[in-house]
Amino acid sequence: MSAASTPAAALWLKNPLAIHTPAGVDARGGLVIRDGRIVETVTAGATPATPYDEVYDASRHVVTPGLVNTHHHFYQTLTRAWTPVVSAELFPWLKGLYGLWAGLTPRDLELATTVALAELLLSGCTTAADHHYLFPTGLDEGIDVQVDVVRRLGMRATLTRGSMSLGEKDGGLPPQSTVQDADVILADSARLVDAYHERGDGAFVQIALAPCSPFSVTTDLMRETAELADRLDVRLHTHLAETIDEEDFCREMFGLRTVDYLDSVGWLGDRTWLAHGIHFDDAEIARLGAAGASVAHCPMSNMRLASGIARGIELEDAGVNVGIGVDGSASNDASNMIQEVRQALYIQRLRYGAASITPERALDWATQGSARALGRTDIGSLEVGKQADLAMFTLDELRFSGSHDPLAAIILCGADRADRVMVGGTWRVTDGAIVGLDIPQLIAHHSEAARSLLARHTA
Ligand SMILES: [Zn+2]
Repeated sequence: MSAASTPAAALWLKNPLAIHTPAGVDARGGLVIRDGRIVETVTAGATPATPYDEVYDASRHVVTPGLVNTHHHFYQTLTRAWTPVVSAELFPWLKGLYGLWAGLTPRDLELATTVALAELLLSGCTTAADHHYLFPTGLDEGIDVQVDVVRRLGMRATLTRGSMSLGEKDGGLPPQSTVQDADVILADSARLVDAYHERGDGAFVQIALAPCSPFSVTTDLMRETAELADRLDVRLHTHLAETIDEEDFCREMFGLRTVDYLDSVGWLGDRTWLAHGIHFDDAEIARLGAAGASVAHCPMSNMRLASGIARGIELEDAGVNVGIGVDGSASNDASNMIQEVRQALYIQRLRYGAASITPERALDWATQGSARALGRTDIGSLEVGKQADLAMFTLDELRFSGSHDPLAAIILCGADRADRVMVGGTWRVTDGAIVGLDIPQLIAHHSEAARSLLARHTA
């Protein structure tokens, strides 16, 4: 990173064109940022009461909290739009891809993680969760590789130590070559939490534990992982109720519906956030809400794989924290958080009607809701005491011409790129470019890695 990314002593982000704050917080005059935090919200037409050293004129910018992505598989950026699975649903899609993914190297994962995080950052995302569950021989230190990339880019991330332990020979979906022993998984999980998990406000790297799904992990490993997460006080993540195939698998394998299964392995609690959460019945939604669980709603992936439409409004009304995730790049195939907000808004309207969800509520899912899903209270909204994580969009492009409500415009007109992004008081994107990252070089290396991964697979 260059010297341009050094935080200023105190900055007044002055008079934004529009700013998204919680109800009752007037920051139309802007924000004062010091030591990486928001120290004052300035009311319309006022000047700050706090001393400041620098002013940034935000009158061209719509300012939102930094977007928080709750579900991804960064490695999948290497297998986007792959012909054999372009039009497949989840189970055949996975079976088509597992063998290809098994060839992943540390260098592949480093490049894929950089690409995914860079895409996210440019779309206004400041904190991202990744669900990495592939540890073929040679990639034992995959999460360590990812930690380095996160630190290099200056973003925040919840990196999950994913796992698969139920191979085909034991009735699972993944090939035997992609699964690991439970002892290895649990020992590595504990090692990673000890080595990297930061606690408290302002954390940049956090570790969570994430068995992949009911159809790729043993019941024992689910239970032991929950016990370990409890002992280490870290969060739990998995895929649940994504497809009817998965529901059928749970009935046949365990004799249980998905939420009963979750409960049976000690996962039904507020430590847990679930990717997708589509096929729940009314009673299950009530149980998840009462437990304080969270759901990462991934609308693009759910449409791409034709998995179904999550019952987002009902989940939230029942007390479930609803966040937004882009999901892995083999089923989206983009890592663009502001576009995901737009799709969440539209798919939920398709289910519940146009008046059921405003652009602001969809944005709240991608910020406050997502932050809560990751167990964070220091990010996700623009108010005093929170981390200075923010995304700033301009309305200078053709697509915004003629728009009236600036905040609605960034979502309805389809903003796809932030002009500026700040993480913890430091500018990470300026003039639509990531500070200190050579994108053309990254594309060259990453696309070569993608070609090589495929060539090794078909050789
Ligand atoms: Zn996923």
